[in-house]
This record gives sequence, C-alpha cells and structure tokens, in this order.
Amino acid sequence: MTDLKSINIKQNVRITECILCGTCCKKGGPSFHLADKHLIDKGVILSKYLFTIRKGELAYDNVRQELLPLSSELIKLKGKNDSSTCIFFNEGEKKCEIYKNRPVECKALKCWDTREIEKFYSKNRLTRKDLLFDVEGLWELVNDHQSRCSYEKIKKMLQKQDDSNNDIQKEILEIIRYDTQIRHLVVEKGGMDSEILDFLFGRPLTLTIKSFGFNHS
Ligand code: SF4
Repeated sequence: MTDLKSINIKQNVRITECILCGTCCKKGGPSFHLADKHLIDKGVILSKYLFTIRKGELAYDNVRQELLPLSSELIKLKGKNDSSTCIFFNEGEKKCEIYKNRPVECKALKCWDTREIEKFYSKNRLTRKDLLFDVEGLWELVNDHQSRCSYEKIKKMLQKQDDSNNDIQKEILEIIRYDTQIRHLVVEKGGMDSEILDFLFGRPLTLTIKSFGFNHS
C-alpha cells in the first residue's frame, strides 16, 4: 500500500484496472480506519497481526512519498517476516487471504487512479484507544506508556541535549529501559502473547530511537 503514484511509472505500462499483480500488497500493509474496527472486534483480523506507529514517529507517507513525523498514531498490518509484503498476501497464488474482509484502504486503492484513497487516507484513522478503551486495565497501561515514552517528549529532550548534559542522556536511557521492561512484564506476569506488543506499545524504542539521532549502545 505504498508508493501509490509510482506503480504505473515503474512498469512503464498504462494500467486501467486491477491485474492482480500484487505490487501494492508487497509494498506494505494498509493503515486502519474506523470503518475497519469491526474486523478487529470480531477477530477477523487478530491484534497479533497489527502494529502501531506512534504519534511523532517518523513514517513513510504513502501520498507524499516521504518520511514524515506522524501527527497522530497509525495502526497498520504487519509485513511477512519483517518484509514490506503484507502478512495476508499469498505470494504463491498472488492473492489476498482475507480478500472479502480486506480493510478499506485496500478496497479503495486503485494504483492507476489514487484519487479515491487520497480523499480519506488521513481521515478517521483507527487508534489504540478505539480498540482498547473498554479493556479493563489495559488501556490505562497503554496510555501510561504513551505519556512516559512519548516521541514529542523525547524530541524535546534531544533538542536540549549537548555533550555536557549527561542528565538528559540518563533520562532518555531510563525511558528506553521502561519501554523494554513493560514489554517483558506484560508477557511474563500478564501472560500476554508477545506478538501483540508492537500493537500495544508501538515498535520498541531500542529500534526507533536511532531515527531521532540518539545512540543508546
Ligand atoms: S490485506 Fe489483502 S489486499 Fe490488503 S495489502 Fe494485505 S494482501 Fe493486499
């Protein structure tokens, strides 16, 4: 679901209908919108197949085709084996395993004409609050993690940081340590499936912090 405008150009062929090439499914899974909520509520798409890109995190903008900090969080479908190919894309048969229940972005995407998807791409996006607010104890935990580990807060701290300011360095390391510990805790003590961690808490700070120019090793 990325590079919306480039598919025809790359193939050097003018496409006017879906030819089931699978190119869009290999370029990243869709982001979810409120209209997709029922798919997750009913278990058609399990939360272990989702991941969250949190507010302030750098993410590839499908329409503007560049890396930009997110103004609000995104929930997306994971890729297969950490690749950009959507987890539900069957490469052998070149088909979507959940075609009838595919998310609205997949339904709207026409690689030869992106006007429809551009109209709602940034609107009514599904958030973790929409899915977790009623789950006792869990939303509070996720919300607390979000405020302790917010990217806006980290960015402000990094702007103040200079070589002589070890306190800020220590504070950021403490945030990274908390992010790591909470993930262990919900699996070990809470009995949760480790595969839902990137949905609950976004991608680990140990991975994402590098894109903000902070070297924690
Ligand atoms: S959900 Fe289906 S249609 Fe959408 S990107 Fe994945 S494989 Fe393709």
